[in-house]
This record gives sequence, C-alpha cells and structure tokens, in this order.
Amino acid sequence: MPGPSADNDLAQLLEWFSEEGADLPWRRTRNRWRVLISEVMLQATPVERVLPYYTAWIGRWPTPADLADEPLGEVLAAWQGLGYPRRARNLHAAAGAIVAEGWPKAARLTDLPGVGPYTAAALRCFADEEDILPVDTNVARVLARRFPDGWPGAGDDAWAAGQAFMDLGRLWCRARAPRCDEGCPLRDGCPAADAGTVIDLTPARARQGRFEGSLRQRRGHLLRELAGGAEPEISRDPDAAASLLEDGLAQRRGDHLVRAS
Ligand code: SF4
Repeated sequence: MPGPSADNDLAQLLEWFSEEGADLPWRRTRNRWRVLISEVMLQATPVERVLPYYTAWIGRWPTPADLADEPLGEVLAAWQGLGYPRRARNLHAAAGAIVAEGWPKAARLTDLPGVGPYTAAALRCFADEEDILPVDTNVARVLARRFPDGWPGAGDDAWAAGQAFMDLGRLWCRARAPRCDEGCPLRDGCPAADAGTVIDLTPARARQGRFEGSLRQRRGHLLRELAGGAEPEISRDPDAAASLLEDGLAQRRGDHLVRAS
C-alpha cells in the first residue's frame, strides 16, 4: 500500500508531466499497433530520429494487415536509417501473426515476434493503460536512484506515470550527466541526490563494440544497396551477405543478393 511519501512522489511526477511532458505523436493514441510500432522503433533509436519514421509508417501501414501485405524487402527499405533491421523483420512477422491469430491476450504478448518483456509491458501500459511500469534502461536507472524500494504503482494514472518516467530518464536523470540541481522535478526527497551516490547508482550498460568496419556496418551497406534497387554480388562481402541471408533480411539469386520478398 503506497504511503504518503509515495503519494507525494506520484503527485509531483504527474504534475510535472502534465505541464512539461513531451508532446509526442505516439502519446496521442492508445492503439496497440501504433504503440507497438513506436516502441519497436524507440528500442535502439533516439526519439528525434524516430519521429519522421513513425509518422511515415503509420501513414503507410495503419493496421497490421497493411504491413503484413507488404513484401519484406519494401518494409526493410522503409526502415533504412533506423538501424538494427531485425526489428523491421520482426514487426512484419508480428503483423502477420496478428492478422492470422488476432492480438494475443495481455499475458501472452511476448508470443509475438520481437516482443520481449519490456515491449509487452509498454503495450499493456501505453495502449491498454494497465498499472504496469515498463522498465527499460532509462527507467531502471531512475528507479535505482529515486525509488530504491521499488515503484508502488500509479493506479488510474499508470499511463501518465509511465510516460513521465520515460521523459525523466531521457531528459533529467541521465546516465552520465544527471541534472539533479538544474530543476529535476523529483529532486525533492531523492535519496541518491541527497546521499551523493547518483553516479554510483547507474546500472552498467552492455558495452558495444566498434561500429567502423564491423559486420553490422557492412550489413548496413548491403541493405542500403538493396533498398536502392541494386543487387550486390555476394562475393563482395560473403560474411555480411551470409549474415543477412541467415536473418531472412535478403534473398539469394545466383551470385547476387536481392530484396527479401
Ligand atoms: S534528483 Fe538526480 S538522481 Fe534524483 S531523480 Fe532527479 S536527476 Fe535523478
């Protein structure tokens, strides 16, 4: 049962969000499909880069059936520039599954391709308005610093609280440069800021290898060519080509790669 201090924290969070929360297009819908598209795009790409892609995608494929009808190669071409194209392939596969079976029950959302526990929680909170806090890297950091005893829930305000956490982690309670004393809306009563342990309470992130010259970069080169209509020779980069074929992101025609169908 949340106590007075938790009530006060929630009230602070909601008041700040109602006045200063970012106005983002996926916050103007409770449609599961739109929320899924936004969440998958946001998984590894900053908000500013996602915005034009999100608008284009929901305009072009407003329902799962629209996306499922599209050849995968077209979908991957429209994903160009967002990175981690397996996400587009998974969205395409999820659209097909939804068309075939309907949306899974809330507890089975992780049955959809590419939907892990975080994305399932995001669908339940941001589309269905269940009192579930989706915990990504940013939110985990805010919890560790500001709510070390856990988040007590937000009842009917779960949607707004979840969105507020997203903004708080992105804009204020940042990993390396937290803005505790620059106006953080939850500075009052923050145990980490009071104790001077904010940076110590930053969960470690998985280290990423170098991008330059990496397999990921070389796969990206080939995918860009495919999106532009070219059919690159496999012998030019056999490892990257094999990796795309293995992931179902391209097909083979003779000695060449062609778009996935
Ligand atoms: S005061 Fe600092 S540590 Fe606490 S929530 Fe705000 S930014 Fe995060």
